[in-house]
Amino acid sequence: MDTQVIRIHRHGDPDVLQLETVTLGSPGAGEVLIRQTAIGVNFIDTYHRSGLYPLPMPSGLGQEACGVVEAVGDGVKEFRPGDRVAYAGGTPGAYAQHRIVPAAKLVPVPEAISDDIAAGTLLRGMTAQYLLKRTFPVKAGMTVLIHAAAGGVGQIACQWARALGATVIGTAGGAEKCALASRWCDHVIDYRVDDFAARVSEITGGAGVPVVYDGVGAVTFDGSLDSLSPRGMLVSFGNASGAVPPFSPNLLAQKGSLFLTRPTLGHYTATRDELLDTAEDYFTAVARGHVVADIGQRFALADVALAHRELEARRTTGSTLLAP
Ligand code: NDP
Repeated sequence: MDTQVIRIHRHGDPDVLQLETVTLGSPGAGEVLIRQTAIGVNFIDTYHRSGLYPLPMPSGLGQEACGVVEAVGDGVKEFRPGDRVAYAGGTPGAYAQHRIVPAAKLVPVPEAISDDIAAGTLLRGMTAQYLLKRTFPVKAGMTVLIHAAAGGVGQIACQWARALGATVIGTAGGAEKCALASRWCDHVIDYRVDDFAARVSEITGGAGVPVVYDGVGAVTFDGSLDSLSPRGMLVSFGNASGAVPPFSPNLLAQKGSLFLTRPTLGHYTATRDELLDTAEDYFTAVARGHVVADIGQRFALADVALAHRELEARRTTGSTLLAP
């Protein structure tokens, strides 16, 4: 069958994203053919496109989608035609109307979860899950700092951290995003205007926070270290402003015997059980109302370049969807 996909033939700015028609065969052993109903756009897709995270060429793009199973290959027992499924992570190629995916990468989508929420927030929701529960577990009574609190991961992580009993300090750029973030943060700092580490010190009475979740990267790195209490942990999980430059580990000693980790979702969902448990925990948090995930903007598949431009120019809030 023929289907439309977005592909790139070289790394570069959003103009390298091309809508093409490709022919899909039947799913092979252990594979599933999906008719995709909604596709998520994540910041990592811009790293794959630009070459910050290089890909072999030509390449598909996109990490997550939701859809309906149309056919299964030999040996697939867990899914059958008609099932609603979603995936997040793995080989880029989600920007497509139809796709063949290994069954081992799919998770079932519960009835309470819409296609848009599954496609637009599963990757970010699973990221919030492992960051808050497994990288540095948030406990009731803690105060935590989460950057880009109006963004996709930020919005979910702030709400979930609060549901876990933490006091949440969030940063966001500009008055509008700060107003949005104040819906799920106890304190919001406009880090384009204020020195956020100084504000964190004020808010915590000079103590600092035990953990900073930082997906912004280069521009927040120093301030994040300065926001920590002694023996605190910087969880550096992204590079929205660019990659963190090299530094000496002695810096961690000087600033208070700090810990630094640079985790990625793939290592926290490496086994089938971890993947299913992480997705289920996120979907349950949404179904219970602990996390209200917001689709901030939607684009047609053919307008994916515009979606990337908006994301990179910091003009998005919440999660971003493509309609196949
Ligand atoms: P967001 O929706 O959070 O978008 C990124 C946000 O970062 C922007 O909206 C902006 O918010 C902020 N930002 C600060 N400086 C810049 C800059 N110079 N350029 C662009 N944005 C900037 O994206 P996602 O939710 O998709 O991802 C958030 C982060 O999490 C990304 O770094 C992503 O790579 C990372 N990530 C990591 C994973 C992992 O396992 N390690 C998994 C999933 C995501 P503001 O305007 O408020 O500053």
